[in-house]
Amino acid sequence: MNSSIHGLFLAELEAFCKEQGQPAFRAKQIWDWLYVKRVSSADEMKNLPAPLRELLADHFSFQCLEKLETKGAPGETQKLLLKLADGELIETVIIPAPRRQSNTVCVSSQVGCRFGCAFCASGQKGVVRNLSAGEIVGEVLEVAKMLGGRPDNVVFMGIGEPFDNYDEVLRAIRILNHPDGLCIGARRITISTCGVVSGIQRLADEGLQVELSVSLHAPDSEVRSRVMPVNETWPLEELMAACADYTAETNRIITFEYTLIKGLNDSEAQAHQLVKLLRKFSCRVNLIPLSPVEEFDGERPDAETMKIFLETLEKAGINTTFRDSKGSALKAACGQLRARRL
Ligand code: SAH
Repeated sequence: MNSSIHGLFLAELEAFCKEQGQPAFRAKQIWDWLYVKRVSSADEMKNLPAPLRELLADHFSFQCLEKLETKGAPGETQKLLLKLADGELIETVIIPAPRRQSNTVCVSSQVGCRFGCAFCASGQKGVVRNLSAGEIVGEVLEVAKMLGGRPDNVVFMGIGEPFDNYDEVLRAIRILNHPDGLCIGARRITISTCGVVSGIQRLADEGLQVELSVSLHAPDSEVRSRVMPVNETWPLEELMAACADYTAETNRIITFEYTLIKGLNDSEAQAHQLVKLLRKFSCRVNLIPLSPVEEFDGERPDAETMKIFLETLEKAGINTTFRDSKGSALKAACGQLRARRL
């Protein structure tokens, strides 16, 4: 199977052209066809000599995923079911913000997930494989095709743990970010992690301005361990130390995600505990009411409980947003995406 052309850096395309006895400027032309004009075959690259077009078609795949299904209407949250070349299925979500006239694409980074958070559908069957950078870029291109323009924001909040597929995720980010390509600003790209400390440490050294979100979901290690097995590998204390180092090194603000689950992590006392935990950080908190997932019998708290939790954080001066996840009617909300088979 040919590898996806969308997984290559511009410099690698240049090296390919050179190897094939072609001038380096051809690579720039190809790049433009791929990411600015966004064609889906070598054939359409009209300003390239025919032999080069043939070479490209022989060496690379231009369409590494196939859209099988779209749920939801244009202009609203939409969920795409995409089939990969080996038959595996993933889901990608388009989240429009009509008032800001912007679109966010929520991409998957793996088929399945190994981390098995109790409340999340994505990891119920473990991980099958990593996505390649070409496949991740392919998700964004598929969305660009549907929108008739590139999306404004990319969030790694679909299926998978991005830091468990670190190299391909970072490669995809650099391709998406390229100024002569899709040119999606680093600050408009968010990596969300369940708390893979090694990934946070590596990201700190990349010199990239991407946004980091950390799924916290509990104010102490004991509660966190009950629903997030990753806490056994990287306990809360270690995670928070890594976050503090990350902030010190990069000067970037971390967003902590906190899914509110009735009776587990939603009490006023726990809100105060969270304040204490985060007091020394310059951070944001994103509260997410639990989305229903078949395999988990937890519930979202009632509105009053969530309000008290939110106000407790706000009164303590913590910048807090409340995200009532879009798309739960489509099973496209946080934690509802799953790898499936045909
Ligand atoms: N693996 C990464 C990326 C997933 S992002 C991570 O864990 O951060 C999806 C976000 O939705 C995470 O914060 C995740 O913990 C949260 N989530 C998972 N299942 C959920 C559910 N049923 N309801 C609400 N949020 C959920």
